Amino acid sequence: MKYFFDFRQDSLTKEWVIVAPRRATRPELSPEKKEICPFCPGNESRGFKELFRIGDKAKYGWEVRVIPNKFPFAPKHEIVIHSPLHSESFFTFSKTQITKIFKVYRERFKLHEKEGQVFIFHNCGRKAGESIPHSHTQIAVLPKNLTLEIPATPQVENIFRESKHFQFFCPCDSRWPGEVWVAPKTSGRNFAEVTNDEFEDLAKHFPIVLKKLKKVFGKEFAFNFYIYPLFGWYLRIIPREKTLGGFEVGTNIFINTVDSAAFAKKLA
Ligand SMILES: [Zn+2]
Repeated sequence: MKYFFDFRQDSLTKEWVIVAPRRATRPELSPEKKEICPFCPGNESRGFKELFRIGDKAKYGWEVRVIPNKFPFAPKHEIVIHSPLHSESFFTFSKTQITKIFKVYRERFKLHEKEGQVFIFHNCGRKAGESIPHSHTQIAVLPKNLTLEIPATPQVENIFRESKHFQFFCPCDSRWPGEVWVAPKTSGRNFAEVTNDEFEDLAKHFPIVLKKLKKVFGKEFAFNFYIYPLFGWYLRIIPREKTLGGFEVGTNIFINTVDSAAFAKKLA
């Protein structure tokens, strides 16, 4: 099968599947192989046309860079390369760098929100679906007729950190052990409306929370986060330590063995 992707819906359950055989051919890089990393400075010419950047206009002057995904599963599928530095991540980026990354998310969100549903997500670690270790985020613009079953903000409870603009909390009905939800105090907006002041505040607290999670889960801590694409936006961090069992795969009902209230205390 040569096609990039195909959207298919089960006529009975109405659930969607994206079949994307080309993605099976994408490279898997180990963290050591910097010389062939397609996201490192010097390798820009490996067939990627730059879509957006923050930084100097000079060829290698970029600080955050957006390119198309070579192995898309959506009509528009982009990659935000967080930094020119191969081994840095949200655990080590400066507050300024994280603010820039979030601003790029917002700019791409604004650009694409009329065309479809803009889903911004990050994979950190192999267990979280990462295939290239150079820190990056993906942005998939999905057709509007595709029903996304993403939960709306749950009841804010078990708050363990509160910043100027955000509440960090562990909802009692979390599906995955150790989930952290980040909700803005000004609710009812979508991601296009987040202010620079909010991003600066988020950039200060976000790495602290990730480091606390890493302390709990250990050195190989793998996680995803995504940004809710509709009104009432939030950011959800999902630790990926748990492997799904047959009951969960078959029924889509999760068994969470971690008590969220107790877990929130560990992150305080
Ligand atoms: Zn790299």
